[in-house]
Amino acid sequence: MSTTDRRPRLAALRLAPLAVVLAAFAVLLGSCGRSEGGRAADSLPTPGALRVVVTIPPLEGLIAPLLPEGSEIRSLVPPGASPHGYELTPGDAAVLARADLVVYVGLGLEPGVVSALARRGKAAPAQLCMAEALGIGGEPDHGHDHAHHDHDDDCDHDHGPIDEHLWLDPVLVASFVAEAEETIGGLLRARSAPADALVAVERGAASLRARVAEVDAAYRERLSPHAGAKIVTQHAAWGRLAERYGFVIARVVMPVEAHDPSPGDVAAAAEAMKREGVAAVFSEPQLSRTTAERLARLAGVPFGELDPVGDTDWARLMMRNLDALESKLAEAAAARGEG
Ligand SMILES: [Zn+2]
Repeated sequence: MSTTDRRPRLAALRLAPLAVVLAAFAVLLGSCGRSEGGRAADSLPTPGALRVVVTIPPLEGLIAPLLPEGSEIRSLVPPGASPHGYELTPGDAAVLARADLVVYVGLGLEPGVVSALARRGKAAPAQLCMAEALGIGGEPDHGHDHAHHDHDDDCDHDHGPIDEHLWLDPVLVASFVAEAEETIGGLLRARSAPADALVAVERGAASLRARVAEVDAAYRERLSPHAGAKIVTQHAAWGRLAERYGFVIARVVMPVEAHDPSPGDVAAAAEAMKREGVAAVFSEPQLSRTTAERLARLAGVPFGELDPVGDTDWARLMMRNLDALESKLAEAAAARGEG
């Protein structure tokens, strides 16, 4: 990479020691521009290692465990940011161009990434679209290879009412892990990767699937006492989770995320929440909590935080959200004398 590149943020990096040495060497060569030495550092030294780009941090946690030794993975949207309104930087485009595999959600969440890939035509890296892999929102899955290069763009049409927060539903995530295993395995076989790389993918997928199943079981068990509970969330990210585990999103603070409701809107919403029997209000760390907090105070219900994207460890993100949901719903039940 040249000195004009944005400093890469390589999280969950599993670089072989040799790659670390080469990367340091490349930095030293940086002042000479894109020299032969820098070029050598550009290809991963471990046979079978893949350079993977994901769009949002939780996808990193769902793909990294499936990658062979020495692979690199990075998320374009950093953990502190909302993916909505994310714009591809020139540095990101360069990172995409070097990737072996790009993994994204689809359903219109990452239009800049999809069009940048489309512009590369036949030179585009292999792609895995979560929505397409799950058969959500596009044509039914014809069993084609998701890692194909002439990606047909089915995945990224703006589907309006289809909720794109697919990674927040553990049952969908379990299916996605199986699809990702197939895609990555196919990519490695096409590159004649060593057998131990394929074994690593299989092992990684098996242990990740077990972890996803644990998360699913924990949600079922710990939310079952709160079946039918109504909550208010900051943005419309939690509908799939609610439907899966039997709670209700009664209201969303910001139907249009850029739009701030007036004080009158907030007071009216709080009154409606009392009538509806809303149990708790949840803000999100990537967005302003002011309105959500005021709604909770005016309605007299517990206030918590749910995080849809801010962690590269998917299971940890999901379990933190479960802790928040369970504790605030229990608090609300206790306040009503049901605890
Ligand atoms: Zn969202």
